[in-house]
Amino acid sequence: MQFIPDTDAAQLAEMQAAGLRWTVGHAYEHSPFYRQRLDKAGIRPDDVRGLDDLRHLPFCDAKDLQAGYPFPLLSVPTEDVVRIHASSGTTGKRKVLCYTRQDIDDWVNMFARCYALAGLTPSDRVQIAVGYGLWTAGAGFQLGCERFGAMAVPLGPANTDMHCEMMVDLQTTVFCATASMALLMAEELHRRDLISRIKVKKIILGAERHSDAMRRRIKDLLGVEHIFDIYGLTELYGPGTGLDCAEHRGIHYWADHFILEILDPNTLQPVPPGVPGEMVVTTLRKQAAPLIRYRTHDVSRLLPGPCPCGVGFPLHDRVLGRTDDMFIYRAVNIYPGQIDDVLSRIPGLGSEYQIHLHHREDGRDIMTLKVERASNADSGQDKELAEAVAGEIRRRIMVRSQVDILDYAALPRTERKSKRVFDHRETVSSFLDQSSVS
Ligand SMILES: [Zn+2]
Repeated sequence: MQFIPDTDAAQLAEMQAAGLRWTVGHAYEHSPFYRQRLDKAGIRPDDVRGLDDLRHLPFCDAKDLQAGYPFPLLSVPTEDVVRIHASSGTTGKRKVLCYTRQDIDDWVNMFARCYALAGLTPSDRVQIAVGYGLWTAGAGFQLGCERFGAMAVPLGPANTDMHCEMMVDLQTTVFCATASMALLMAEELHRRDLISRIKVKKIILGAERHSDAMRRRIKDLLGVEHIFDIYGLTELYGPGTGLDCAEHRGIHYWADHFILEILDPNTLQPVPPGVPGEMVVTTLRKQAAPLIRYRTHDVSRLLPGPCPCGVGFPLHDRVLGRTDDMFIYRAVNIYPGQIDDVLSRIPGLGSEYQIHLHHREDGRDIMTLKVERASNADSGQDKELAEAVAGEIRRRIMVRSQVDILDYAALPRTERKSKRVFDHRETVSSFLDQSSVS
């Protein structure tokens, strides 16, 4: 496939080993922050010979970016920085990341690969509805589109009037947005009776977690062929570091530009493929602000085995949640995203649910799922539905649960992200304290 190099696991491992050596040497030599971190861990760049040495390297995370404000992790002279982007910090200063010309170029190439993987051609017209400016999203979607050679229609998160107008007038074929923007547009196009006048065939969703139910609704409303998920975070260039292919089994990520580790957030040891854990990334070529074992606090898992699409780059799952959302139940780490995933596979359920954890008198914990029936389903099937949910949870997450099916709209709706996990146990797990690394 043009833009996407032919590669395999052995080649990637070789590139990763070389990139790791370069990154550690570069960071040690040019970044006081990294030099101090590595010295403290007793590591000299020469100690890093291959991928096995990765596990000895110290971690960094968002706290280090804030401490280094305004130019954290800077490993080149500021004269070599051609751009900065920033993302909002939930507390304190925003995270500012620097890019050299090569960093921008690498990012744009990765993004162009994403468009290639989504099966675009130069005749596609790509309407971009994500934010521009300090945020990485707009710039990434647009520059990647230009590098790929399709027509970029850069609207940003403009009003729906303008989006509808351009979508009809320019005969847009690809729409790039957050899931909530895509849903808003889908509903708006219906309301205005414009569905028959648009040509959108593909949607690329970024920047925001969303449920399968939401994807299905967008797909049904717009009648598009594919909805693709793009992954990325500002610290790691921005969006475009991976995309799911047309098989939709997972996200192919560009492993020639970064190493992805999936670690248990408690122990910081690798979990086996297929098991969810924290995404920790190490860059291989990033000059201005390289990352060495950067803890994203995003949760996903590696998906083993080759993909039928033939692309040799490995797969990770969609983001299943944040490490802060994780709870431990009967010694299993569980993320609400996994429950989401199970529920979305069972017809007859709505998309709202709650997880309640109780401590029983006999000393065992019990997990109760409260799940809404779909709006068009009746209560006659509740028993079978509850059994199906408990069975799937047992099969896929390996724990037992009790399931209550509720009427549609019985659970509260909020504008903001709904609270899913209610832990009524006396001793709340304190894994966050144990896992914080200094
Ligand atoms: Zn694939």
